[in-house]
Formats: sequence, structure tokens, C-alpha cells
Amino acid sequence: MIEALPKPTKEELNARAARVRLLVFDCDGVLTDGGLYYGSDGELMKRFDVKDGHALVMARLVGLPAAILTARTSSIVDVRGRELGLAAILQGKKEKGPALDELLSQFSIPAESCAYMGDDLNDLGPMSRVGLSACPADAVVEVRQEAHFVAQSRGGHGAARELVELCLKASGRWEDVVGLMKRSESKSSRVGLK
Ligand SMILES: [Mg+2]
Repeated sequence: MIEALPKPTKEELNARAARVRLLVFDCDGVLTDGGLYYGSDGELMKRFDVKDGHALVMARLVGLPAAILTARTSSIVDVRGRELGLAAILQGKKEKGPALDELLSQFSIPAESCAYMGDDLNDLGPMSRVGLSACPADAVVEVRQEAHFVAQSRGGHGAARELVELCLKASGRWEDVVGLMKRSESKSSRVGLK
């Protein structure tokens, strides 16, 4: 039986979230529901969530960049990541620890200013190092035990959005997002749903 870490209080969680300057997401099972759709030529499709995508765009627009860090490699992830304007897309990273270091050095931030959301055992390494660790509701039990923040939503069904909202609300930027969207209503929507 693995000893569960005590979860931070709401105040502690908000303090951690307010410090976040970079959001890092695993892909399969976090930004997707983990389903891999295969044809005879290999992987054909993944399913992403439009509300997660929109939240990532909003975060970027108010100065909080996001990155994907995944052990698998798929051109689908590049397409989706580019569409959302993600700051970095690291694929084929079987060793996620050194890849996280790469990101931290690229963005010149300490691990305490980074949030990482993962769903499986190979995410435990980066999760144990960052200032805010998070996971979807349907992450494996060891990951749910480790995470500072367990989303109520499942992977590919709003979990990423919950993390974005937590960070933007804790740092007082959520109002900026809402204001931005209200203003964009009157213009011919430069900020479309992604
Ligand atoms: Mg995963």
C-alpha cells in the first residue's frame, strides 16, 4: 500500500497555483481521453476537448504559456499544439525528467514556478519536482495520491481546463480572460474557440 501524501489546503493550493508561470501537460490521458485510434498505417486519430483547448489559448493570451511533454510521438499532437499556439511541444521523451529540465531552462523558470499534469506512472518523476502537480480524475491511483490537485474532470474531458482556471483565478487573471472575451464579442471574434 502506497502512503498517500496529505493534500494541500485550499489556501496552500492557491498559493502554489498563483506562482505558476508555465503549464506542462502530458498528452495521452490528460489532453485526450487516452484513446488511440489505429488504422493499418498506424495511429489515425486522437480526441481532444474544445474547452481544454480554449482554456490553453486564454492562458496564453493573458501571459501564461503551456507546453506538451509526452513519451509518445504523433504528428496529430504537433497539429493540435500548433493550433493552440503552445509554447513548446516535446514528443518522444521516454525520460520525462531531463525533458522537464529542458523546458525549465528554455523558459528560465525554477521548478517551483511550473505546473505539471499527468495521468500515469511515468509522470510521477516530473510531478514530484514541480511547484504544482495535478492530474485528471481518472489518473492511476499512485498519481492521484501524489498530485497536489486532482481535477474533478477526466482526461480529455475538462481536466486541463480545471488546472488552467485554478492558476488564472489564483493569480487574479481570470477576470482578464472574461474581460477579453466580452470585448472580443463586439469585434468579429479574433479569439475563436479552439
Ligand atoms: Mg498519459
